[in-house]
Amino acid sequence: MSKIQMTTPLVEMDGDEMTRILWKMIKDDLILPFVDLKSEYYDLGLVHRDETGDQVTFDSANAALKYGVAVKCATITPNAARVKEYNLKEMYKSPNGTIRAIMDGTVFRAPIIVKGVEPYVKTWKKPITIARHAYGDVYKASEMKIPGPGKVELVYTAEDGTETRELVHNYKSAGIAQGMHNLVPSIESFARSCFNYALDTKQDLWFATKDTISKKYDHTFKDIFQEMFDKEYKEKFAAAGIEYFYTLIDDAVARVIKSEGGYIWACKNYDGDVMSDMVATAFGSLAMMTSVLVTPDGKYEYEAAHGTVQRHYYKHLKGEETSTNSVATIFAWSGAFRKRGELDNLPELVNYADCLEQATIETIESGYMTKDLALVSTLPDIHPLSSEDFIKAIAKRLAAKLA
Ligand code: NAP
Ligand code: MG
Repeated sequence: MSKIQMTTPLVEMDGDEMTRILWKMIKDDLILPFVDLKSEYYDLGLVHRDETGDQVTFDSANAALKYGVAVKCATITPNAARVKEYNLKEMYKSPNGTIRAIMDGTVFRAPIIVKGVEPYVKTWKKPITIARHAYGDVYKASEMKIPGPGKVELVYTAEDGTETRELVHNYKSAGIAQGMHNLVPSIESFARSCFNYALDTKQDLWFATKDTISKKYDHTFKDIFQEMFDKEYKEKFAAAGIEYFYTLIDDAVARVIKSEGGYIWACKNYDGDVMSDMVATAFGSLAMMTSVLVTPDGKYEYEAAHGTVQRHYYKHLKGEETSTNSVATIFAWSGAFRKRGELDNLPELVNYADCLEQATIETIESGYMTKDLALVSTLPDIHPLSSEDFIKAIAKRLAAKLA
């Protein structure tokens, strides 16, 4: 069989621990036998990040901007324990944070749905994709403890020195205060990424804030989305047969629970933080959650939403058998191949991505799965597999599909 050809390289960002082990297995068994892989390889494993003083992370993000499609393995975000464990020169920042800052994108997270792993919410039939605005609000707030009676004000000093004041509160007792901010260009980038991703995936877009209470702050989010939609996206959405729908956050929560799924839910930073964990858990498994960073001008970085699965890695190091779920990492690769195929007009590569996903889902739906899924699956006949045997089972199906 001749291998499927590529024209533009994928930016490949390798990572850490158990997911690094899975990365190699996926390449060896599911990719290299079928695709003449062109990739520009960046090793974001912590050892190499340390050797390069984290330069490799910056280089990989710039390569993602240059080529337009990247696929990333989970990576360790160092804390004090990791600095000791790896004898690091510095406590480097989260690679995902660094990449997001360089690419200025929005993260879309969506669950992979399979028969036998039922959502806790009975009505959910299709994935719900959460888009989280990843800048500002409470995550970049300044706070104060107010010791006793006195006045707290917001003061804006313009460049010419003129001041505008707004009373926060006239305290009669001790209390607390907080100042948050956001930026119009950041909200615009967020809105644009959401509209484009909705068009790209042909799904409705929902957005919600608390604009009735927060008449300037949240209302600005609502207005920016609405103006951009009316000016640039209304006709495109109509042509694609999809809708943009705005409502209040509390109404959105009620509607989401009663819905069938199948749409993108755009959330402000805090709402996205809270709701993405709720949605991921309610869909049944963190290991079945994909994540893609999309820039306002359509560059993509695909990854799994979970971490490096440290506990399984330590078992692996001791020579014990592991049963780590590789589905989200496989879907990161298939998402990247599909996008590369669409951009470069390579139908065979798109077909390969579709077959890879189908082979993965069919393997699970025929009862062959890793232990995390075996524990929750409602299928009658279940065969738990090791990390390696699960990937080999998918490879067999994939080969049959592509033959
Ligand atoms: P984690 O890697 O997501 O794993 C937490 C637990 O969830 C695992 O111990 C395992 O439970 C279960 N799990 C997660 N993914 C699984 C999979 N694919 N298959 C089977 N079970 C899975 O989170 P963590 O252990 O808290 O973090 C480890 C490292 O990952 C940290 O250094 C963190 O910085 C990093 N991290 C990276 C990213 C990223 O690169 N995007 C995201 C999050 C965390 P059991 O142990 O019960 O089997
Ligand atoms: Mg969270």
